[in-house]
Amino acid sequence: MNRRQLLAFLGSAAVSARVWAAETAATVRGKLATGSPARLVTAAGPVELTGDTPSLLVLGDARLNGVEFEANGAMAEPGKFRVDPIHKRNMFVHKDGKRLMISYWCSVCSIRTWQPGSCLCCQDETELDLGESFETVK
Ligand SMILES: [Zn+2]
Repeated sequence: MNRRQLLAFLGSAAVSARVWAAETAATVRGKLATGSPARLVTAAGPVELTGDTPSLLVLGDARLNGVEFEANGAMAEPGKFRVDPIHKRNMFVHKDGKRLMISYWCSVCSIRTWQPGSCLCCQDETELDLGESFETVK
């Protein structure tokens, strides 16, 4: 292996180490500042939160502004955390010593959804509903 090949090899090794680090599962917890993008103030400093479209809707929900928030996902890059897909239910609110799941509820139709917005059935605005578990979890 000559010097040039060695450098190329070291370069690709560094790249794969970065990819591996980016995909390492992690949890962040702190005070949520909702918005676009949403920010979380953690013990290690502020991180910007990103994720799939339904997750971003939750992260933009002003009713969650200022809550003690926990998310599972991975560091996408320094200072930027990607929440795992919404169907994995990876966002929580900590309240009164309990870890609560975030959901949205239409009391007219008894329909639960996982992102804020209007009810699929009656088009009314759904209510934010936090709970330790939900029977309707699919
Ligand atoms: Zn409804």
